[in-house]
Order: sequence, then C-alpha cells, then structure tokens
Amino acid sequence: MSVALFTLGGTIAMAGRAPDRRAGDGVARLTGAELTAAVPGLADAGAPLDVRDTHAVPSAHLTYRQVLDLVADASRAVAAGARGVVVTQGTDTLEETAFLVDLVWPHAEPFVLTGAMRNPTLAGPDGPANLLAAVRVAASPAARDLGALIVFNDEIHAARWARKTHSTSTATIASPNAGPLGHVVEGRVRLLTSPPRREPLPVPAEPSAARVALYTVTFDDDGLLLDGVAEHHDGLILAGFGVGHVPATLVPALGDLAARMPVVLTSRSGSGSVLRNTYGAAGSETDLQRRGLINGGLLDPYKAKVLLRTLLANGAGREDIAAAFARLG
Ligand code: ASP
Repeated sequence: MSVALFTLGGTIAMAGRAPDRRAGDGVARLTGAELTAAVPGLADAGAPLDVRDTHAVPSAHLTYRQVLDLVADASRAVAAGARGVVVTQGTDTLEETAFLVDLVWPHAEPFVLTGAMRNPTLAGPDGPANLLAAVRVAASPAARDLGALIVFNDEIHAARWARKTHSTSTATIASPNAGPLGHVVEGRVRLLTSPPRREPLPVPAEPSAARVALYTVTFDDDGLLLDGVAEHHDGLILAGFGVGHVPATLVPALGDLAARMPVVLTSRSGSGSVLRNTYGAAGSETDLQRRGLINGGLLDPYKAKVLLRTLLANGAGREDIAAAFARLG
C-alpha cells in the first residue's frame, strides 16, 4: 500500500532563481519527482510513493479552498488504498493549514505535513530529512488515528498544538503547550503519547462565505482599527495581553462587537491559555466574557481564526461556536 505525496511549494521545493522555469515568478520549484529523487533512503521508507504535484506556490499564497480541495484529493487517495498522506508545503502557514486539515480529516490514516527551512541550494538543506521522516510516519501503523501531524526535524507534532516558532531555525516547529508526540529515531517512529481523536467537523462547502478578522491588542492601544470591523466581517479573534486582557478603553467597543458577532478571546503570548475567572478589572478576562466574548482556551489566535472561520462557514450559531471553542480550545 502506497503513501500519497502531494507537493505544494515553499522552501523545501526551491531550486534557485531561474526566470525561464515553471513558477512564473523567477523562482524555480522542484517537482515531486525531483524532490523525492534527492532523498536517500526514501525507497526503503516503508511504502511506495504515489506523487502528485499540486500547487507550486509559496505557502503565503495558499487559500482555504485549495487546502480543502487537497483534503478531498487525499480522502480519495485513502479510499483508493493509500495507507497515509504526506503534504510538502512552505512553513509560513503550515501551523494554520495543518490545523484546518486536522479539524476536518475523517480518516484513521495519518495526514502528515512537512516542509523545510533551508532550501536545496544551501549547505545542509533539511527538506530531504524532513520528507523522509514524514513518509516513515505516514506509513507507520503507530501514527493511525492521530489526525493531522507535522513532522519536522525528526519530531512528530500534533497539528492541534504545533506552531512555527522561529523565522529561520530548522527547529522552528514546536508544540509549546505540549511538546512533540514523538520522534523518528534511526528511522523508527517512536510515539511517546497519543492524544484522543476528535470528531471531525463538516467540510464547509463555501469557506469564503465567512470572514474573520484578527486584532492584536498592543500597549496603549487606541482601538481605532476596531471601528467598522463588523461591517466587513462575520467574526473577530481578539489576541489580548497575557491571560486575555485589554485596556479598559477598548471594552465598550468590544462589548458592542460581541453583541453583533462572535468575538473570541485568545492570548498574544505565544503559549498558555486565556483564563476564565481570575482577574476582575475592566478589560480583564472576566469582564470581557461577561460582555459576551467567547473564551478561546489554549488556542493561539491563528488557530482560533481557522476554527471560527470553519464554524461560521458551516452556518454555526453563537451557542454552537461557544460549545466548539469549549471543546476544542
Ligand atoms: N516562504 C516560505 C513559504 O512558506 C517559507 C518556507 O517554506 O519555510 O512558502
């Protein structure tokens, strides 16, 4: 049984500047065949590869639609007998695309995403090692029923917790709240822990129907950007200070917004949860929830945005959204 490999663009597929080659933006990109040819040991990784070149774009260009179409293609590959799926893409949006896949992936077969930080023209590119480890995990029975995974730097991360934590380091992917689920050691998949599988959400038919804004609160914030946000958006993610705090001056505007659309409270801190009832000052988590904001729990602002958009695109109402964040946040 094969592993289906879908190749997108990103650093892992960069082949230097060549205006006459495929991508049309002056940057040549490796095809899946070229990418796999550069990986020693791939033939012995546990499963033959069924390689499909998909979107050769920087990951900043990827859309919801493209990722959901990829999930549909991957589902078809699994239905046709693939034992697992690997996707290569850029790391810039990897934590968001992987989380979206994890929310909707209904199969026991592993869906593994990977990428690279050092492109193939540099000394010590990490793409080949990451791809090899990703294929080993996708082919492994131990990785079944874990949803979407990011395999990077020989670590196995749950998509629900993984973050891009460094702009250039090859150890950029980390799970600050949980640590990796396991490692690839001498080619063996070693799982240390297995989080329980969650019910997949329905795949939204029209993801662009839901518009979600993200607002990061900053020191002495004037809140001007919040004006008019409800005119153009269906929901708002608020990245507050620490455990979910904002300046008191922002509270009336946020209360008004929460009366008009779902506003989810998250932390801009990078790890840890927003709290529910520890602080009581104006602009505290308790105050904001009393005014209708939904607690985002442990979800970072970017994942919260993916979840809220998926829920809104599925037609979820306020109660359902609050329940989903209570369950998944
Ligand atoms: N800019 C690249 C991308 O996300 C970075 C990477 O691949 O790591 O497409």
